[in-house]
Amino acid sequence: MRKDPTYDRNWAGNYEYRASEIVFPESVEEIQERVARSRRVKALGSRHSFNGIADTDGTMLSLERLDRVVALDRTNGRVKVEGGIRYGELCAYLDERGYALPNLASLPHITVAGACATATHGSGDLNGNLATSVHALDIVTADGEKIAISRDDGDGTLAGAAVGLGCLGIVTAITLNVIPAFRMSQTVYEGLPLAALEDGLDAVFSAGYSVSLFTDWREASFNQVWIKRTETDGAHRWDEPSFHGATRATARKHPVPGLSADPCSEQLGIVGKWYERLPHFRLNFTPSAGEELQSEYFVPRAAAYDALCAIERLRTRIAPLLYVSEIRTVAADELWMSPSYGRDSVGIHFTWNPDQEAVSGLLPLIEEALEPYRARPHWAKLFVMPPDKLRPHYARLPDFERLVARLDPDGKFRNGYTVRYLTEGADPGRRD
Ligand SMILES: Cc1cc2nc3c(=O)[nH]c(=O)nc-3n(C[C@H](O)[C@H](O)[C@H](O)COP(=O)(O)OP(=O)(O)OC[C@H]3O[C@@H](n4cnc5c(N)ncnc54)[C@H](O)[C@@H]3O)c2cc1C
Repeated sequence: MRKDPTYDRNWAGNYEYRASEIVFPESVEEIQERVARSRRVKALGSRHSFNGIADTDGTMLSLERLDRVVALDRTNGRVKVEGGIRYGELCAYLDERGYALPNLASLPHITVAGACATATHGSGDLNGNLATSVHALDIVTADGEKIAISRDDGDGTLAGAAVGLGCLGIVTAITLNVIPAFRMSQTVYEGLPLAALEDGLDAVFSAGYSVSLFTDWREASFNQVWIKRTETDGAHRWDEPSFHGATRATARKHPVPGLSADPCSEQLGIVGKWYERLPHFRLNFTPSAGEELQSEYFVPRAAAYDALCAIERLRTRIAPLLYVSEIRTVAADELWMSPSYGRDSVGIHFTWNPDQEAVSGLLPLIEEALEPYRARPHWAKLFVMPPDKLRPHYARLPDFERLVARLDPDGKFRNGYTVRYLTEGADPGRRD
């Protein structure tokens, strides 16, 4: 029996969960007991994914009551947190104690466990996705036992488990590597021509610690460039009036044209706390457009300009359905299921109007246009790429499947999404 209608759907409201019940455990022991006696079970984070990745036809376990910091290890520069904590709360805790995380997504509202599970990312040439900060995981596996997987094990399993796609069990705690707290500024420029990236892509994206380009694709140009600079890379250089042909904004901006900038993080070059500038949106406001869908594809950085030109050729089809498109860089990593596995990447993101039918009709065109560039979709957003096209993008997928089979031999954490993309070719009798 379902207990709370708030949890019937994801944040965007476009996906209705099939779970027969949702429960809110208050201890790891309770999670162990629930998992042990459930036929099918899945962890739910803050529900910010746009597809069925968090769904189950059994019991949903929300970890929102397990949202504390367990320990700050100053000696090794690590923090251990419970599986339900959100970045918003964690960042304030860390900053007060002189620490920071190297990067954040566009919003602080998401859970650490849910974000890392899907390789959620921010921007920055040298910044890996958020799961690259994971040092260790405590996971309740299918038999209800709690195991620990750590980089210190030295066997590489953590690289498989960090982007776990919810398939390995319930992550009850995560240990993240932290860095010293830092200060930074954010400056917005307006009107960067797409052509500026043909020879200038590296110069544009290396202009700050984290750089994002936004376009509504009404023109072959970017409406806005958001540059986040740390004090060491020139946070005070906010007064440069132009940037590769774009002009510095003199008022705060929302990435979606026409929306109030109130929900947005500090801008105008004002130097301050890292976690009040790395995300685009503030914790106590609705992030992004609010009512929306999202898709994103990662292409190798070297192919990014050509891939963007391929998208630009579709802009008259894209623009009518779009709030805004964001272009970010993500450093290569070694996490098996990361879309940036083995390659420096550029993420081409779309925030769509909430018209699922029209968006679903357009995605095949976008995926066809990006296919020559070996685009990998964001696991948590909308895509239509069939499994036989998606699976070859992941060289370590067979290793991941072996890890899933070891920790979840009977498919307790499996759902329709994971069966479709991660176990294609498996015994059909074992499907949902
Ligand atoms: C407005 C908005 C802005 C966004 N901005 C960005 C962005 O800047 N960059 C980006 O990359 N993505 C972005 N996303 C996507 C978002 O980061 C991902 O959907 C992320 O996975 C959401 O985390 P969540 O806590 O909501 O997890 P959920 O969506 O609830 O779950 C995601 C997955 O994590 C698993 N999971 C959750 N908790 C646990 C746990 N404790 N143990 C095991 N598995 C668990 C779930 O089972 C599921 O498989 C955005 C989404 C929205 C709605």
